Amino acid sequence: MRNTELFIQALENSDKELLKKIPKTDLHNHSTSGCSREYIKKYSSINIPKLGEKLKSMDEMHQWMSKNIDSYFETAEGRNLLLEGCFQVAKDDGVVVLEVGEDVWGNGNYYNGDISKLIAHYKGAHKKICPQVDFRFQVGLSRHCPIKLLEEWMEPFLMQDCFYSIDLYCDEFAQPIKNFKPLYKKAKEKGWLLKAHVGEWGTADDVKEAVEELELNEVQHGIAAANSPHVMNWLRDNKIQLNITPTSNVLLSRVESIEKHPIRKLYDYGVRVTINSDDIIIFDSEVSKEYMRLYEVKVFTASELNQIRLYGLESRGHHE
Ligand SMILES: [Zn+2]
Repeated sequence: MRNTELFIQALENSDKELLKKIPKTDLHNHSTSGCSREYIKKYSSINIPKLGEKLKSMDEMHQWMSKNIDSYFETAEGRNLLLEGCFQVAKDDGVVVLEVGEDVWGNGNYYNGDISKLIAHYKGAHKKICPQVDFRFQVGLSRHCPIKLLEEWMEPFLMQDCFYSIDLYCDEFAQPIKNFKPLYKKAKEKGWLLKAHVGEWGTADDVKEAVEELELNEVQHGIAAANSPHVMNWLRDNKIQLNITPTSNVLLSRVESIEKHPIRKLYDYGVRVTINSDDIIIFDSEVSKEYMRLYEVKVFTASELNQIRLYGLESRGHHE
């Protein structure tokens, strides 16, 4: 049977093991946060607690992480466990295209400013764990950092030829999006795919402004666009893909429930959407689980979810 039929069958029969085997993409995953609690428990003595209740802000999320996760993983060994775990979790979940990478700040903080060490770490983990997975190496920027520092930190990344995309994340309100134009201009000249987190906490207009100012190819989240038919039509007409993470949106109180997730509305307007994990270590959100959750509460039919799965594969040049 073809993957399409198998995928539909897996959803209809609640067959989680079969669902994991079907090829899918994860285009919104924060590398070391893409490791699962189960993996950490298996390969260390550390027991990360389940997220007990919904979080209400990025501050609450960072507090939860520093209380329950960060202190264990400040060593090189700890970070390596998380990075290898991210690749292993993706592999086990049938992810065939994984877009993850490092924050430009991380080069100085974790690798003594030696970018060859950073690259060797990521490439080594990929080769060791899942060489068959198409690993798209991303460069990350935190929105609260001063532009001058980001420019300086990004410089060594621009000298390399192994990076695929750039993303911007953390506090959406830290500073105006137009401040990042010089950085995205350089990224565009380099040929990187241009993405940014926007419309998770902000508005539909923020999504449109970010796409226009930074010439984005894709948006991470962008769910606030569902509040504006004008912006949805504009995203559809300009073929801007939204890489959406449903469980994360619920657990960060961006959306009331999976049932009410605006991904349905965006899809109905013809906006191209994909389904992704965000931070598996916090949200228990491997991509297969996200598909199953959306199916179980009837947000989409199995064949609609299959179409969304194919969007992810097609956008990255993978065809079935
Ligand atoms: Zn994210």
